[in-house]
Amino acid sequence: ELPCSMRDFCEATGVPVAQVLRFMMGMGVMANINATIDQQTAELIAADMDLTIDLKAHETLEDELITSLEEAEDEEADLVTRAPIVTFLGHVDHGKTSLLDALIGINVVKGEAGGITQHIRAYTVEKDGRAVTFVDTPGHEAFTEMRARGANVTDIAVLVVAADDGIMPQTEEAISHAKAAGVPIVVALNKSDLEGVDPMRAMTQMTEHQLTPSEWGGDTEVVRTSATTGMGLDELLETLLTVADLHEYRANPSRKALGVCLEAEQQGDRGVIAKLVVQNGTLRVGDILVCGSSHGRVRAMTDTLTNAPLQEAGPSTPVNLTGLDIPPGAGDRFHVLSDITQAREIAASREHGSRTESLSGVTTKVSFETFQEL
Ligand code: GDP
Ligand code: MG
Repeated sequence: ELPCSMRDFCEATGVPVAQVLRFMMGMGVMANINATIDQQTAELIAADMDLTIDLKAHETLEDELITSLEEAEDEEADLVTRAPIVTFLGHVDHGKTSLLDALIGINVVKGEAGGITQHIRAYTVEKDGRAVTFVDTPGHEAFTEMRARGANVTDIAVLVVAADDGIMPQTEEAISHAKAAGVPIVVALNKSDLEGVDPMRAMTQMTEHQLTPSEWGGDTEVVRTSATTGMGLDELLETLLTVADLHEYRANPSRKALGVCLEAEQQGDRGVIAKLVVQNGTLRVGDILVCGSSHGRVRAMTDTLTNAPLQEAGPSTPVNLTGLDIPPGAGDRFHVLSDITQAREIAASREHGSRTESLSGVTTKVSFETFQEL
């Protein structure tokens, strides 16, 4: 059984609602535009009207709009350098979270914590007037999951390897995830403050994983760091900025924003709080958003670190945002649209699609004879 709303049906078939309502009345059914009609009824109506039901058409309408937003070419003149988005990956307890804390500590005045339970943290850090955006995920599952959903937010992976432990199973997994994502890898040989650690051991292990340190003639930058003493943090930032220079990450701040939801939750009276990263364009308070099967108008945005209110957020900026009707999923892409009705419809059709195994792909041609046999 594949239920479908009257609205979807009319949009898919192009038949005016009034005509369908008349037909339903003829069959003794009082309906309205929000009524759900099942597959059989849809086929009966189509048969009566000698239509080919292409229920895929509805999805295509949505896809076309979103695809056109995703694929809109930016004018060369509109492109500006954007901050690289850097994700920490590595074995548990090797110091990913500590490194990010230390980086924030040395560069930005630490404000109060963001208003969201931060399973995934994302902050922009400045170094000599240049910005780097860091994403700290609880594990590389989150990284893989987002990538699997087509939401690759990472430009550069920092592989955090504790110098005392060396490469561990999760380090190996992280290496394969970063390689599969095709992003450059910078190694932070962390806990280098510990007495008696032998960096050569970890570097030899790296070589066995096709990550040859540049000081050994390879192309993997290895920075000796300590989140505890602050050793190597400047060098890590400089290395990331050098990699960013090589890749020339650019974006167009003058287009409508699009990007990814990292995390979201319902917070009582405050409503839905979502942590998003803008990948291209500029997101503004008041913008109409569709994100997965949620939609809404941006009510407020705050800096993820200082919690300061933001009126707008350009490319590579993480924000906490309110205004969405329901929490989108981690890894859901967001788009700014110009029409709230359109946003609502797209969100609803996605919700509908996920509920019903999707009506898409169902193309049925039924004859009037079939109708009479029923
Ligand atoms: P994560 O699981 O990779 O995020 O690791 P954490 O940042 O939670 O760090 C795990 C433990 O290692 C904590 O107890 C940290 O204090 C400690 N740690 C992290 N970085 C360093 C470092 O550079 N030197 C030393 N000595 N300890 C560190
Ligand atoms: Mg951690």
